[in-house]
Amino acid sequence: MIDFELAPEDKAKVEEAHNIAQTLFRPISRYYDEHEHEEPQELIDTMWNLRSKGFLTGMGVAGALMVEELCWGDAGLYLASPGPGLGGAAVFAAGTQEQWGRFLARFNEGKPTWGAMAMTEPGAGSDTSAIQATAARDGDYWVLNGEKIFVTMGHRALDLSEGIIVVWATVDKSAGRAGMKSFVVEAGTPGMKVEKLEKKLGIKASDTVTVTFENCRIPFNNILGKAEVKTKTEGFKGAMATFDITRPLVAAQALGVTRAALDMLKDELDKQGIKIRYDVPRSKQTAIERDFMEMEANWRAAHLLVLRAMWQLQGGTPNALEASMAKAKAGRVATLITQRAVELMGPLGYSRKLLFEKFMRDAKINDIFEGTGQINTLVVARRVLDYTRDQLK
Ligand SMILES: Cc1cc2nc3c(=O)[nH]c(=O)nc-3n(C[C@H](O)[C@H](O)[C@H](O)COP(=O)(O)OP(=O)(O)OC[C@H]3O[C@@H](n4cnc5c(N)ncnc54)[C@H](O)[C@@H]3O)c2cc1C
Repeated sequence: MIDFELAPEDKAKVEEAHNIAQTLFRPISRYYDEHEHEEPQELIDTMWNLRSKGFLTGMGVAGALMVEELCWGDAGLYLASPGPGLGGAAVFAAGTQEQWGRFLARFNEGKPTWGAMAMTEPGAGSDTSAIQATAARDGDYWVLNGEKIFVTMGHRALDLSEGIIVVWATVDKSAGRAGMKSFVVEAGTPGMKVEKLEKKLGIKASDTVTVTFENCRIPFNNILGKAEVKTKTEGFKGAMATFDITRPLVAAQALGVTRAALDMLKDELDKQGIKIRYDVPRSKQTAIERDFMEMEANWRAAHLLVLRAMWQLQGGTPNALEASMAKAKAGRVATLITQRAVELMGPLGYSRKLLFEKFMRDAKINDIFEGTGQINTLVVARRVLDYTRDQLK
């Protein structure tokens, strides 16, 4: 039976996340939006401290709800908070217990540390089989060469801390996706360089960089999963397992920003004397009431999909279909609702006086990274209709 009820200790963690979002994230939200690439030191120290005390360590449904709350506060600041991030999720999904210890322990001790994951390249975004970065075996080492772009938290992971980056590269170009493997590269490894900090539309408090690899040597046992090139899809299994975790989490980020916009919209309408009357027949509702209820219903549908995908994950049930459903729906809903909130607020929505325009800018990325809306819809269609990748492109 599906049950999304939280244990009391998880409930307390989610409430604490909301409290932090309100008291720590929101007050500095606009500042770090307008001061891109400035370090939010007060946030970093506090979040690291909380992490070391076991806060923000929840997985599954509770983990998603905490992410949602923090992104209600500010999605960019959530991403900027120290922790294993996408890199950690990849190690967790595809690594061995020994690798968990070797690569993940640093996120619970010492100084603030970040993790990142690099799949995208100038010629390989949605089509990950086009990845050109290579990993060549040389005795007890792998030698990495290539360029990765749009790496979230790459600067903080590699330049500002002793973090890790999980890099996708091919060990055999002729094998296609079967040849693709992931490798953990630790900060400070010679041959790896952070080249460029992107200036972005939204989530400006997070950093996004290009990372290049030139004869970058890493130990052989930094490969996640098996080194042999076997079946057609074997190599890509690690990436898929990572997406099963990260897609619902990105969807939870989308839910947080969207709920922030909905809450603010309701408050502002309230100030204008407009109450949403849930108890009048549809024919008697105003246009704004209908719009608002439709936005809320769409948000709720996305929310339930996220909870379901995370509930499956925590119970060990395969969730690839539901993870993509949640991501596609939440990314779309976030884009449409935050944009509608700007429209409904008119000039106040477009100005920087309130945060509506920021929510709209912050929301859009959720329909792009971890698989665009179109790609996740394609994944859903393939799985529902039982088509292979080659049959439905
Ligand atoms: C701020 C930011 C942070 C990011 N962080 C990371 C990160 O940490 N690590 C990482 O590896 N990547 C990251 N990315 C990259 C992101 O995952 C890619 O941008 C995304 O996968 C899309 O790839 P692309 O940009 O090459 O677009 P393309 O693949 O060129 O797609 C362009 C458009 O075509 C559509 N499209 C493509 N193929 C199809 C198809 N078969 N059917 C229908 N439509 C299709 C897409 O949906 C999209 O709308 C980040 C990107 C941004 C902007």
